[in-house]
Amino acid sequence: MSIRQKVLFKIKSTVLEKIATPKKVSSYFGENIFSTETMQKNISKGTFAAFKTWMSEGKTISLAQANEIANAMKNWAIAKGATYYTHWFQPMTGLTAEKHDSFISIAAVGKVIEKFSGNKLIQGEPDASSFPSGGIRATFEARGYTAWDPSSPAFIIESKLGKTLCIPTIFISYHGEALDKKLPLLRSDEALNNSAVGLLKLFGHKHVKKIFSTCGPEQEYFLIDKNYYNLRQDLIMTGRTLIGAPSPKGQQLEDQYFGTIKERVVNFMFEVAEEAYKLGIPLMTRHNEVAPHQYEFAPIFEESNIAADHNQLLMELMKKIALRHDMVCLLHEKPFAGINGSGKHLNWSLSDEQGNNLLNPGKTPEDNLQFLAVLAAVLRAVYLHADLLRASIALAGNEHRLGANEAPPAIISVFLGGQLTSILNMIEKGVKSKVSKADIMDLGIGRLPKFNKDTTDRNRTSPFAFTGAKFEFRAVGSSQNISTPIAVINTIIAESLDYVKDNIKRAISTGKDFNASVLMVISKVVKETKDIRFEGNNYSEEWKKEAKKRALPNVAATYEALEALTKKENIALFERYKVFSKEELVARYHIWIHMYNLTLEIEANTLNEMVNASVVPAGYEYERLLASTLDELVRLQKGAGLKIDAAALRDKKEHLSEIVSKIYYVRKNVAEMVKLLEKAKKISNEKRAELYFEELKPLMEHIRKHVDQLECVVSDDAWDLPKYREMLFIK
Ligand code: ADP
Ligand code: MG
Repeated sequence: MSIRQKVLFKIKSTVLEKIATPKKVSSYFGENIFSTETMQKNISKGTFAAFKTWMSEGKTISLAQANEIANAMKNWAIAKGATYYTHWFQPMTGLTAEKHDSFISIAAVGKVIEKFSGNKLIQGEPDASSFPSGGIRATFEARGYTAWDPSSPAFIIESKLGKTLCIPTIFISYHGEALDKKLPLLRSDEALNNSAVGLLKLFGHKHVKKIFSTCGPEQEYFLIDKNYYNLRQDLIMTGRTLIGAPSPKGQQLEDQYFGTIKERVVNFMFEVAEEAYKLGIPLMTRHNEVAPHQYEFAPIFEESNIAADHNQLLMELMKKIALRHDMVCLLHEKPFAGINGSGKHLNWSLSDEQGNNLLNPGKTPEDNLQFLAVLAAVLRAVYLHADLLRASIALAGNEHRLGANEAPPAIISVFLGGQLTSILNMIEKGVKSKVSKADIMDLGIGRLPKFNKDTTDRNRTSPFAFTGAKFEFRAVGSSQNISTPIAVINTIIAESLDYVKDNIKRAISTGKDFNASVLMVISKVVKETKDIRFEGNNYSEEWKKEAKKRALPNVAATYEALEALTKKENIALFERYKVFSKEELVARYHIWIHMYNLTLEIEANTLNEMVNASVVPAGYEYERLLASTLDELVRLQKGAGLKIDAAALRDKKEHLSEIVSKIYYVRKNVAEMVKLLEKAKKISNEKRAELYFEELKPLMEHIRKHVDQLECVVSDDAWDLPKYREMLFIK
């Protein structure tokens, strides 16, 4: 029996104690966060007021005030059982980072007290020389600093034997350059706020104070049994299967999508939800996805920077809690070939501080007009900066989805739905020169129809789709930190909001009335950006051809997509909106290219070892079985006159030769791959990424194809690697 078969008998659900009456969520929601309310209760009025001003106007608090908050935070955490604290941040590798310190200080010889000062709250100094900075921070001045981000509440992470207070921070260099993913997001919200407030004031909302982006990321993932996972080096090392023959049953029956959730999985989901609720993460929906053993969690949307922190935390919770249920949570974009990969649909909108959604088609014609102006800004932003959107989701894992005929393609386009499309068409064709107040939307073709929240008209294949009262950026990878895509969306839309605002103002200054000016600008934008709109099937070949005609970028390779970050006009855009400096962009380009290369090298080296140490020996064993049977038969034929059908004997021989050649072929290609890796060592990172995309990946696919054929014939007894039909179909 193979190890794999032995494992089959070990697989069972974890035994859980039944909870008679689960607690009401409202009774414990947010109990592990140091919320503004908790802070308010535990500090002086003056300090709280200073804190609020800091949040809204950026006026920093004094050290004495910071000390007071730190003390309140410490007391709260210690009362809840925390013994350690950490500055929690999001380095450019996309994971989260922590360096834990104990609360204790030496009070006297052999005596300690719990202490935590404002200094330590506001600024930490991790020994962080190993985080990539892309050249911003040379190792000799290696220090990076974490600085408290008061916009996201501190929280407590529980483990079996203790609790840790986590303080959300940004991570910066000595000179203030962003070394993380979070700071640019915060800066982009500032930019968006400025631009959006400007436009709204023009529309007569004199009292609007703050506009921010909202975000609800739908998180897809796979779960597989831990026993199988432990036998797959590829999953352990790379998060995806590098080899593995397709299972006869995949997702073709679509019997998984929204199906009954297996009990084992639903228990996992309950525990994730409970832990998430304690941290104030508002999880809303959970369901089966299309592929076998693929699932999704979606939260209620929140302010983007909170949503980004919450999504990072959620991913960590999911990974941790899956293990408690003897399962492993796979967040990779493409863990299994031949079935759907995982994405993270990023639902994005704009809100004012009263909670009014700027992408909600209004009830009155005036609101409609404002909605259309914001919509026009989105269209223009995507039209002009599709390259930046593509760059914001460029990573090795996502490369398997984008352009691979399943997920949104690498061509960025916008879907608006039938209703909006026809409205825009009307505007484009028929703006009357005179538009009276009473007849605002008379475009020469009757009144503008009332907008309905249109949820039936769906296009699942569009990478940037309008879905009711928000846009859904669907091409984001499941494992990604959403901070960067949000920062890009916020910035490009800020710029277009400014464009729309400035052009309306200009039109007004020529004597046109307000409504006519707005309609004129919308009409102009609609006309100019038409090419970015596509309502059809984004996976089709026709769309690829059509997109080419329209000169829309279709960038399949990560290295090429990332180049957008270093384009002159893009650098200028980000500098103008103070989201990234040139150095920060160039650093990101280098880091992400480097990470792409490292990912591929780890994959290739893992494949090399798996082929040589697992696949080939299994092949040899089967070869031996075939050879000795053949030998025996021929001997019996000769010695004992056994009658063997000539065709049957020929078939045996052919099969053996086939196996021998296949093993040879696989080994030969793996040797080729090793040579290619050697060659890559001598060239620059940029060239290396290109080589990996153009040559290494196809070679790995080629090796895989032949290994998978072997898997289907080599005896089940000899094959130790868990198969797709097992990993994806355990109960
Ligand atoms: P859909 O049916 O389009 O998937 P849902 O209402 O189920 O719509 O929402 C899907 C995700 O979109 C959820 O995470 C939700 O919180 C988020 N979402 C809804 N409205 C907004 C908004 N105004 N801004 C950002 N995200 C939103
Ligand atoms: Mg979904």
